[in-house]
Amino acid sequence: MEASYIAAELIEHRRVARDTAILAYRLLEEPQRQPLPGQFYMFHVPGVEAVPLSVYNYSQRTIWFLVKERGETTRIIVEEAPRRIGLLGPLGKPLPPPPRGGRALLLAGGVGVAPLAFYARHHPSTLLLGVRSREYYFDTGIGCVLVASDDGSIGVRGTVIEAIDSYRIEPASYSLIIAAGPTPMLCAAYAEMKRRGVLGKTILVLEEETICGLGFCGSCLIPGTSLRLCREGPGVEARLLSSWFQARCKAC
Ligand SMILES: Cc1cc2nc3c(=O)[nH]c(=O)nc-3n(C[C@H](O)[C@H](O)[C@H](O)COP(=O)(O)OP(=O)(O)OC[C@H]3O[C@@H](n4cnc5c(N)ncnc54)[C@H](O)[C@@H]3O)c2cc1C
Repeated sequence: MEASYIAAELIEHRRVARDTAILAYRLLEEPQRQPLPGQFYMFHVPGVEAVPLSVYNYSQRTIWFLVKERGETTRIIVEEAPRRIGLLGPLGKPLPPPPRGGRALLLAGGVGVAPLAFYARHHPSTLLLGVRSREYYFDTGIGCVLVASDDGSIGVRGTVIEAIDSYRIEPASYSLIIAAGPTPMLCAAYAEMKRRGVLGKTILVLEEETICGLGFCGSCLIPGTSLRLCREGPGVEARLLSSWFQARCKAC
């Protein structure tokens, strides 16, 4: 695999929700491979550090990212939109298409919608998006989106997992279920899909600290497994994640 950063230049910066922006960067060289849904880049802010960011969209050498401020690096990206950056990727395993020409149920929490919106642009899907409140919501431009908010200010009231019942969605009728979002939401998704007996066709898109992105530093080893998020993930079959669930979800 080619493991060098490619320079990219900012061509679009749009604030879309509270603490959240969409940024488009044009690669200054022809990439060896185009990103597929579920893959990510190490996004290097010169003089600061590199952070992993999922592909929100891609077209003709331009990559769109959906970024939420969490700490200093994401604050710089969202607020200052660096003009020139370095991108390493595409990294990670692409998410599989729904089998047998079926349909995927996508469960997104907050900016977890980034990889799932890219997925929904490629594969037949129903996207259930959960946000804290209306000020965190924005239109992804994808059809078939059902919305839930913790305070009921947009869509149905409740978490994205509770909204499965509110919208009378039957996960068993989908050929694939993919959840992406913060760890507490992934824990709830794991427990709920287990309860419904559909863990075997569920994938969780995990977020663990990822430093090198190339599989050698060990920072992103998924607890209880020998899987590295940056190589064997970030989308991992839920049936392989019982030890991850024990380690990460006790406090959730
Ligand atoms: C494969 C992958 C894809 C990602 N895609 C996106 C994306 O498309 N859009 C986006 O906004 N973010 C995404 N993230 C998360 C993003 O990388 C982190 O928000 C970022 O690294 C935080 O860096 P920081 O320096 O701003 O904050 P830091 O100071 O490093 O972190 C601030 C706080 O945020 C939390 N945090 C930081 N990193 C993570 C993490 N990896 N998982 C869970 N909590 C974390 C911790 O509580 C931490 O204390 C992704 C992460 C991974 C691993």
